[in-house]
Amino acid sequence: MYTNDIPCWQVWNKVEMSNFNRESVLTVHHWTDRLFSFTTTRDKSFRFKNGQFAMIGLEVEGRPLLRAYSMVSADYDETLEFLSIKVPDGPLTSRLQHIKVGDEIIVGRKAVGTLLQDNLLPAKHLYLLGTGTGLAPFMSVIKDPDVYERYEKIVLVHGCREVAELAYSDLIQTELPENEFFGDMVRDKLIYYPTVTREAFRNQGRITDLITSGKLFADIGLPAANREDDRFMLCGSPQLLDDMRAIMATMDMQEGSHTEPGHFVIEKAFVEK
Ligand SMILES: Cc1cc2nc3c(=O)[nH]c(=O)nc-3n(C[C@H](O)[C@H](O)[C@H](O)COP(=O)(O)OP(=O)(O)OC[C@H]3O[C@@H](n4cnc5c(N)ncnc54)[C@H](O)[C@@H]3O)c2cc1C
Repeated sequence: MYTNDIPCWQVWNKVEMSNFNRESVLTVHHWTDRLFSFTTTRDKSFRFKNGQFAMIGLEVEGRPLLRAYSMVSADYDETLEFLSIKVPDGPLTSRLQHIKVGDEIIVGRKAVGTLLQDNLLPAKHLYLLGTGTGLAPFMSVIKDPDVYERYEKIVLVHGCREVAELAYSDLIQTELPENEFFGDMVRDKLIYYPTVTREAFRNQGRITDLITSGKLFADIGLPAANREDDRFMLCGSPQLLDDMRAIMATMDMQEGSHTEPGHFVIEKAFVEK
């Protein structure tokens, strides 16, 4: 498995172009000057589970320049979708942010990751907590009809600095509830709780503070988090994940994995270098 923990030059040395599919960019949408999303064609052989990520990137001077990206699209979609940060001097995103319709990106043939339903023990409520591009894996999770079968309520909390960074909020609030196949379950079970830290908005504050203060649960009308009823999927900055691990420990919650399901699962949204 290749992850961001491996410097890009090592990845370049280890991979062959034959490990990748070449996909065409179909659409590009710039949310802000720091955030964009794009869709591409999807090779029929590329399989993944909702919540997983793959190595994607660009071919630069004949070699793949790769980074980990979560799929925003669902496993059943015919196209692929990704949500991306723009790091001004980032090796990949300084280039990727300029892609246009018809350009080619490369997508690793293997998808991996821990944000999987089977890594969690059964419970009543599923909390999906993401900051920034940490929303991406949860977009595929909330398009998964199976998730609605498993839980009574699914709570998607997206934390950002600014309102404009609350990507996909229209899709979540208006399109998904109208989905012809599972819209009724979305209307009944999905609670969307966007929150921002640097602007006035209906919900404000950091996710960790909203949990420890109990404000999140009061606002959505569910009991305070507890080990019996609640499961958590977490995707955010390394700092958020450290803080959330500490909060999970206070509730005696155990991290789940492929080998043993638990009360919460964690994926980094990015790695600090
Ligand atoms: C499991 C996993 C899944 C990921 N999924 C996504 C995804 O769906 N979308 C996405 O945009 N990125 C994602 N990333 C981060 C991504 O792999 C790259 O780091 C990012 O695309 C920037 O690449 P770069 O080469 O331009 O800069 P890099 O050299 O990779 O990063 C430079 C610096 O930019 C900052 N940074 C990088 N990525 C982010 C980010 N997403 N949000 C805020 N700051 C960041 C960090 O401080 C990092 O040290 C994921 C990372 C991991 C480990």
